[in-house]
Amino acid sequence: MTWEVVIGLETHTQLSTRSKIFSGASTAFGAAPNTQASAVDLALPGVLPVLNREAVACAIKFGLAVGATIAPRSIFARKNYFYPDLPKGYQISQYELPVVAGGGLKIRVGENEKFIHLTRAHLEEDAGKSLHEGFTDVSGIDLNRAGTPLLEIVTEPDMRSAAEAVAYAKALHTLVVWLGICDGNMQEGSFRCDANVSVRRKGDEKLGTRCEIKNVNSFRFLERAIEYEIRRQIELIEDGGTVVQETRLYDADRDETRSMRSKEDAMDYRYFPDPDLLPLMISEEWIANIRKEMPELPDAKQARFQSEYSLSAYDAATLTASKAVADYYERVLAKFRSEPKLAANWVTGDLSAALNRHELEIGASPVSAAALAGLLKRIADGTLSGKMAKDVFDAMWNGEGDADAIIDQRGLKQMSDSGAIEAIVDQVLAANPKSVEEFRAGKEKAFNALVGQVMKASQGKANPAQVNEVLKRKLAAGT
Ligand code: ADP
Ligand code: MG
Repeated sequence: MTWEVVIGLETHTQLSTRSKIFSGASTAFGAAPNTQASAVDLALPGVLPVLNREAVACAIKFGLAVGATIAPRSIFARKNYFYPDLPKGYQISQYELPVVAGGGLKIRVGENEKFIHLTRAHLEEDAGKSLHEGFTDVSGIDLNRAGTPLLEIVTEPDMRSAAEAVAYAKALHTLVVWLGICDGNMQEGSFRCDANVSVRRKGDEKLGTRCEIKNVNSFRFLERAIEYEIRRQIELIEDGGTVVQETRLYDADRDETRSMRSKEDAMDYRYFPDPDLLPLMISEEWIANIRKEMPELPDAKQARFQSEYSLSAYDAATLTASKAVADYYERVLAKFRSEPKLAANWVTGDLSAALNRHELEIGASPVSAAALAGLLKRIADGTLSGKMAKDVFDAMWNGEGDADAIIDQRGLKQMSDSGAIEAIVDQVLAANPKSVEEFRAGKEKAFNALVGQVMKASQGKANPAQVNEVLKRKLAAGT
């Protein structure tokens, strides 16, 4: 344990605006190449960029959510580099004066909480894409993505392990989707992380030389890429080598990072203020208006779930892992308020398992919140046993109607009439003298066998708690 790992993350989040950041072209994903690139995106001579107000509103929302400072005046700058997918020869970004500065995010790894400080978040445009598949000797260029609005969110070098970096990336992902500023679709590239990784000997003041792993688009790859890079750097230094600052690429197939290019300095980009764009001025009033419309944030919601519904921290965290799940849970409670814990168990348990099995988001659940509430009422009032409830839930999932209709159709009423249960218990005891003997000889298993027999004789309808109670009483009386 002589090494300390230092990680800082830069995340490009694609903002959910309908049109691009400086043009009116659509940002919709998946269109035929170059059908969504306007004259501005193509950088034809004489065109001028016009800032999309909605993209700025997204940045303000984010800044408010992380407790950052929102600059009353920020500047767009040109970041100059040559690449075929960058038609202007520069990317419009922000450099010296970003729109959002400071703030941070709480993360949790196991039992430990930690605050990750943000350096800044700035607005910029995305580049196009080079296409290689289906071409020989040449590459295709698709400029549909050119000019798509991005918010690049940069952390301080605060993380100390791959696990912390992943926890941060997940918390950030939850937040931007929660705020509705990013669709969070990692496969389509709406949320991409660059990980800056360095190592130093424990106790060293100075940070080690970092490598930047570019464009990791899944949490699993992020963790693996960082783990690989940590091992690589430590082995390199222990073998007497030195880490060179560079940009590396993670190859998921080979589970390794590879050098892509030596790291360019800010100098190389010849940043300068874009003369085509006025300074971005954000009024107090605009910020105040957005503040009024901010949703309740994940941490606040989690704390409220714990206090208002007496849930454990674990349940509250699970239910607030996404806004869609939290909203669903509260819609269940709107119809069934008596047992929040039972509702939490079903949302995080059977419902979420079924959604996972069918690879569905909660928004597409075939069992609506109101329908689940209907089922929970019948569990709470003793109509359904836990086992029966699972069957009813499956039937609801398969579109057989609401809980009450299914209970009616199947004649599924839990038997809670103690006289009827006693009669069945008597029958079972008379028919199973061997189990009764074994129980009296001290075999606990024999008791479970008897419970099983009673449940079977009642076709699963007897209330299990009552069966236990009656059996215990009768067996004790018989000795
Ligand atoms: P650039 O924009 O050139 O990539 P920055 O200085 O803005 O460089 O840093 C980018 C990211 O790298 C930030 O998240 C920062 O916290 C992180 N970082 C900077 N130095 C180190 C280091 N020595 N080790 C790990 N991360 C670092
Ligand atoms: Mg960088």
